[in-house]
Amino acid sequence: MIQELHLPKPSPSVSLFIKRDDLLHPHISGNKFRKLKYNLVAAKAQNKTKLLTFGGAFSNHIVAVAAAGKEFGFETVGLIRGEELATQIEVNPSLKFARDCGMELEFISRENYRQKNDSALLLHWQKKYGDFYLLPEGGTNDLAIKGCEEILSATDQYDFICCAVGTGGTISGLINSAQPHQKIIGFPALKGDFLQEDIRNFTHNKNWELNTDYHFGGYGKITPELIRFMNDFNAQHQIPLDPIYTGKMVFGVLDLIQKKYFPKGSRILLIHTGGLQGIRGINAILKQKNQPQLDYYE
Ligand SMILES: *Cc1c(COP(=O)(O)O)cnc(C)c1O
Repeated sequence: MIQELHLPKPSPSVSLFIKRDDLLHPHISGNKFRKLKYNLVAAKAQNKTKLLTFGGAFSNHIVAVAAAGKEFGFETVGLIRGEELATQIEVNPSLKFARDCGMELEFISRENYRQKNDSALLLHWQKKYGDFYLLPEGGTNDLAIKGCEEILSATDQYDFICCAVGTGGTISGLINSAQPHQKIIGFPALKGDFLQEDIRNFTHNKNWELNTDYHFGGYGKITPELIRFMNDFNAQHQIPLDPIYTGKMVFGVLDLIQKKYFPKGSRILLIHTGGLQGIRGINAILKQKNQPQLDYYE
């Protein structure tokens, strides 16, 4: 579903639309649905019965894999970054949801998490959990990108496509499937230059760029200004955004519109990649810190 967003008067001379991939599935959210689709087909074809993957405290990917395992009949294992979280399952809505879907959770140190793709650790987990289909962190691999290439069907009429960027899988699918007259702009949710190269490895086309001005201090960093913006945006458009990815991207696009970055008459399409499940847990942390919270839930 694509919705038009009506900009406040005096209206800038562009039109703005949003593709609601957050509505694809109640629990397998947005781009994580796209990224899992062909991986689950492959796992079935290889007769795998178990999925194993990685993620952080409020990971949308972990929640999506847990829900997909329950719905499509796979056992699931989640290796979670941070041993201290083991005692917090009951107060962490994302981990609790994953566990209640039947996901087996193991909490690993930050050091092991960093080395999670090393063969010695993978061998250790194979001994412990038996045969499994491995989904990388964030779900990004070639089959995930193939799924993300389906996001842009029937969207030729847009000049700019804007999306949030984490590992770069989603934007790579968009780049591969965009028309030559379209430009893809990615808004990284984290600091660092490695993304350019990762995306280049997954794509051939050149009609894209990253705008690195709207990470708000880095991955998972949330400011009162961002929260106020997201609450206002929801009040105005009845569209909830998430504070890790889509909130920052939409903030960036509206700021660029104000700064006249887009030529007059441009048609801009935002991709809502979902991620709303994390809001409850993130709100609880903001409350502890006595900071403004999002006034909506998923
Ligand atoms: C995971 C996620 C992203 C990042 O997607 P990548 O393919 O890793 O770049 C963006 N938005 C939301 C809501 C996500 O959950």
